[in-house]
Amino acid sequence: MKLPLVFDAPRRAMPPRHFADLDEAGRIEAVTALGLPAFRAKQLANQYYGRLTADPELMTDLPAAVRGQVGEALFPTLLTPLRQIECDSGETRKTLWRAGDGTTFESVLMRYPDRTTVCISSQAGCGMACPFCATGQGGLTRNLSAAEILEQVRDAAATSRDHDDRLSNIVFMGMGEPLANYNRVLSVVRRIIAPAPNGFGISARSVTVSTVGLAPAIRRLADEKLGVTLALSLHAPDDELRDTLVPVNNRWKVSEALDAARYYADQTGRRVSVEYALIRDVNDQPWRADLLGKKLRAALGPLVHVNLIPLNPTPGSKWDASPKPAEREFVRRIREQGVTCTVRDTRGQEIAAACGQLAAETD
Ligand code: SAH
Repeated sequence: MKLPLVFDAPRRAMPPRHFADLDEAGRIEAVTALGLPAFRAKQLANQYYGRLTADPELMTDLPAAVRGQVGEALFPTLLTPLRQIECDSGETRKTLWRAGDGTTFESVLMRYPDRTTVCISSQAGCGMACPFCATGQGGLTRNLSAAEILEQVRDAAATSRDHDDRLSNIVFMGMGEPLANYNRVLSVVRRIIAPAPNGFGISARSVTVSTVGLAPAIRRLADEKLGVTLALSLHAPDDELRDTLVPVNNRWKVSEALDAARYYADQTGRRVSVEYALIRDVNDQPWRADLLGKKLRAALGPLVHVNLIPLNPTPGSKWDASPKPAEREFVRRIREQGVTCTVRDTRGQEIAAACGQLAAETD
C-alpha cells in the first residue's frame, strides 16, 4: 500500500504544558505567574537538567508548601514507561512510552565501550512512508511536544547516571521525521546542548539530527548554526529508485537534498553523514555504489561520511539485507571515490530496536 506523505500532523490535542517546554524567559514567567520569586525558575532548571528530577516532591530546595502547586502547574506526568526490553546483556534497552492521551512511541538506549547513545523519537509514528521502515508503514499519529522529547533524554541521562555512566550522544533516529516537527525539535536541541542549568550540557557535535531530506528545513537548520551533526537518509543515488524508497524524493530530488547538505556543511563546518540502508538487489548494485561515491564527492568532497546500514528486517517486508560480499564491494567502491564509509552495527535487532524497526507495538 502506498501511503500519502504527511507533512502536517493530524490535529490532535497536544499534551499539557511542561517545564521542559519553556526557555529561560518562559520559565521565569511561569514561576512568577504562580506567585513565586523568579529565582525559583533557576532552581527548578537545576533540578530538571542538572539533577535529572521531574518530581517536585523530590526537590528538597523547594519549600514543601509549594511543591504540590509547582507539580500541578509545571510538571504534569507526560510519559509512562509501558515496557522495557533489553538485549546485549543489558547494553541495549528499548523503552515503549505511553503519553497522557494514550499515544505510544519508543526510544532506545545503547551503551558502547566509549560512549552512551540514546535514540529518541520526535513524532509518534511517521508520515514519510518509506516502504522499508516499520515506522513509516504505520503512518503518523502526532508530533511529540518538546517536553515529551526531552523526557526521553532526561530518562536516558538518569538511567546512565544510575549505572555510573554518562549519556554522551543523542540521535534523532527513533520514530518520526524530526524536521517535520521543526520548531519543537529546535527547542529540544537548544535545551540538550545548553550548559546546565539551562540544558543538559551535551556537546552539539554529539547530537545527530537525521532527516529524509526536507531540503528547505535542512537549510533553515544550517542557519541556526547550532553545530549539531546532520544525517541525510539517502538510500539511493538516483531519483528513479529514490522516488520509491524515500517518497519525499518526489518533492525534493537527490540533487536538492545534496545541495542542502552541502549548505549545511558550509554553514556549520560539520561533516554530513549520509545514511544508506543496503537492500539486497534493490540498491546494492556496484554501479550504484560508484554513482553514490561520485555524486557525494562532487557535492560534498571531504565533508561527507557514508554510514551503510545493513537492512533490518521489518514485519511484512519482502526485502533483505545485502549479502556480506556485496556489502564489502559496495564499501570498497565508495572508498575508491575518496569518500569515507563505514558499516553501522545492527544493535538491537533481536528486540526490534534497530534502525527502522520501531513500531511501538503494545501487545
Ligand atoms: N526520519 C528520519 C529519522 C528516523 S530513521 C530519517 O529518515 O532519517 C533513522 C535511520 O534508519 C534512517 O536513516 C532510516 O532511513 C533508517 N532505516 C529505516 N528503516 C530501516 C531498516 N529497515 N533497516 C535499516 N535502516 C533503516
